[in-house]
Amino acid sequence: MLKENYDEVVKKVEEACKRVGRDPKEVTVIAVSKTKPLSNVVELQQHGVMDFGENKVQELCSKYEEIEKPVRWHLIGHLQTNKVKYIVDKVELIHSVDSLKLAKQISKEAIKKNVTIPILIQVNVAHEESKFGLDQEAVTEFILEVSKLPNVHINGLMTIAPFVDDPEDNRKYFRELKQLFVDIDSKNFDNVDMSVLSMGMTNDYEVAIEEGATMIRVGTAIFGARNYNI
Ligand SMILES: *Cc1c(COP(=O)(O)O)cnc(C)c1O
Repeated sequence: MLKENYDEVVKKVEEACKRVGRDPKEVTVIAVSKTKPLSNVVELQQHGVMDFGENKVQELCSKYEEIEKPVRWHLIGHLQTNKVKYIVDKVELIHSVDSLKLAKQISKEAIKKNVTIPILIQVNVAHEESKFGLDQEAVTEFILEVSKLPNVHINGLMTIAPFVDDPEDNRKYFRELKQLFVDIDSKNFDNVDMSVLSMGMTNDYEVAIEEGATMIRVGTAIFGARNYNI
C-alpha cells in the first residue's frame, strides 16, 4: 500500500513537471516518515525509495541505528544546537538552518568528525510567527556569513508554507522563494550552491513543483495521517 501511495505521488510529480516543461528527474521526493515505524521505511526501501525525512533528532537517530541497509536521512525539523552532535555524521542534508549559532555549531561538530555537512537555509516566506526560519530580507547577508564557516556547505533554500485549504494560496510564496534562490545564485558566493529548493508538502507539492521545487517533503500522502497521541 505504501508503494502505491508513493507511486501516486511520483505520478503527480511527473504531471506537474509536464505542465511547466520541467524534467521530473530534477525533483526528489522525500518520504517523511516521522512518527511512523521503521517497518514503513523498510517497506519503501525494498521498493528502491532512498530519501527519508525526519523532524526530530532522537527519532532520526534511532531509525538510523536500527535500519539494516542505509538510506539517506534528511533532517527537516527545527534543530537545537545541543543536538547537532548526534546527527552530523548521519544525515544527507539538514534542511532547517535558521540561525548563525546553529550554523556555527554544525561547523564545529563537522570539523570534529571530519565531514562536510550540506545544509539548506530555512526561510519563513509568509512571515508566520509560529514558524522558524529567516525573513527573506535577511537571507542573503546570512548566507554570506554562513558561507565562511568551515565544513558546512550551503546547497539551497527551504520553506514550510502556511497550512491552507487551497494550495493556490501558497503559489506566491513558492514563487518568491524561487526568485530569492535565483538572485542568490547569480551572486556566485564562494562555498554556496543554489541547487536545492526544498518546498512543498502533501497539500501543496504540485504547486511547489510548478514554481520550481527540486525537493518535496511528503508525509501524509505516502504514510497516511499521523497520530501524535500514541
Ligand atoms: C511533517 C513535515 C512534512 C510533511 O508533511 P505532510 O503534510 O504530512 O506531507 C514536511 N516538512 C516538514 C518540515 C515537516 O515537519
